[in-house]
Amino acid sequence: MNILLLGGPGAGKGTQSKKLEKTFGLKHFSPGDILRQEVKENTELGARAREFMEAGKLVPDELIINLMLKRIKEQKKGIILDGFPRNLAQAKALTEMLEKEKMKLDWVIKIRVSPDEIIKRLSSRRVCPECGATYNINFNPPQVEGICDRDKNKLVQRKDDKKETIKKRLEIFEEETRPLLEYYQNKGNVIIINGEADVEHIFREISEKIGRKNK
Ligand code: AMP
Repeated sequence: MNILLLGGPGAGKGTQSKKLEKTFGLKHFSPGDILRQEVKENTELGARAREFMEAGKLVPDELIINLMLKRIKEQKKGIILDGFPRNLAQAKALTEMLEKEKMKLDWVIKIRVSPDEIIKRLSSRRVCPECGATYNINFNPPQVEGICDRDKNKLVQRKDDKKETIKKRLEIFEEETRPLLEYYQNKGNVIIINGEADVEHIFREISEKIGRKNK
């Protein structure tokens, strides 16, 4: 089963992807996670992507499309796409590749969250720079303030979760990513989920709608 998650920054795509990955044995692909790792390792791609990411802008399509299509094509089990595609050019490139490979997206899940809630969530999000675990200082805090539960590293705020950058990311989402909903609605199989409920509730709803019982 192949799933695409759509939704603004901070809608909970990453959190739900990790749960879907674990429960249903799918492989999670997040270009944001891949790029952050490249930046951390100071690779050539990381160096090129960094300034776009820190400014809250999209990394150019020529860097992202090949990077993602190659990984998706090589994957043998079902996939969850989280953060790709993010504009129409990427979506069309993905459709073309899937058709060529005789693959398809079984479900496109749109997680709907209001802009006010997004700003609130992102400005209080903290992440572990080592393992990538995410927390929220208001509604999902770590056991010890400022410390990752898993590996005890010091939590940080992502540079692109600062107020000014969040605004830019929301603008880009409105202009470039929102039109994808219509693109996929015209293809069918879109499920719309209220992303302002709690994490477990959202996961149950997704599991039911895609016809899989939550274990
Ligand atoms: P995310 O972790 O999904 O919020 O992504 C963090 C940042 O990585 C974004 O703000 C972009 O700079 C970059 N990025 C992630 N996915 C894409 C994509 N599909 N196209 C272009 N840039 C992306």
